[in-house]
Amino acid sequence: MHQDIEEILISEAEIQQKTLELGKQISVDYAGKSLLLLGTLKGAVPFIADLARAIDLPLELDYMAVSSYGASTQSSGIVRIIKDLEGPIDHKHILIIEDIIDSGLTLHYLVDLIQRRNPLSLRLCSLLVKDRPRLKDVPIDYYGFRIPDKFVVGYGLDYAQYYRNLPYIGILKPSVYEGTKP
Ligand code: 5GP
Repeated sequence: MHQDIEEILISEAEIQQKTLELGKQISVDYAGKSLLLLGTLKGAVPFIADLARAIDLPLELDYMAVSSYGASTQSSGIVRIIKDLEGPIDHKHILIIEDIIDSGLTLHYLVDLIQRRNPLSLRLCSLLVKDRPRLKDVPIDYYGFRIPDKFVVGYGLDYAQYYRNLPYIGILKPSVYEGTKP
């Protein structure tokens, strides 16, 4: 698995350090309130697990699974809900937890959908933000790292469902795309 990685962009230690900082900031910003962390499956699972433990507030966790319709690896912005939230959110402060924001199309749809359910407040936290023009504007309240416009894997992010268990964020070797691996 590690031999398929061309370059480690963000180390495990850097992720852990940044997650602690984000958790502290979120705890300060929401002091006196309780919070529902809304994680997106599957990519945001390691991040939400670590971030939740870095937040010192009464906290609920829930998850949504969405998939983008589309011909290619590019998301289309038309999103299908595969798993929805367990209950209503109209009396809750919601913080959406994402692994990565790329074009912004998927998240734009999700933010719109959640907003229409009238939460007390809605903010967004993404571990990674790609350095590229967004096709749809999404308000990013908290983020961990800006990364170059490259396809990355690890710490929840996959290529063909693999590499999610890498403890760091890395760039795959081209031979993996071109060949038959993994
Ligand atoms: P968007 O709608 O913002 O273009 O796409 C967001 C989704 O595309 C992310 O939640 C993630 O699943 C996937 N994605 C975007 N960029 C990358 C990347 O560099 N690596 C991986 N593994 N997935 C990505």
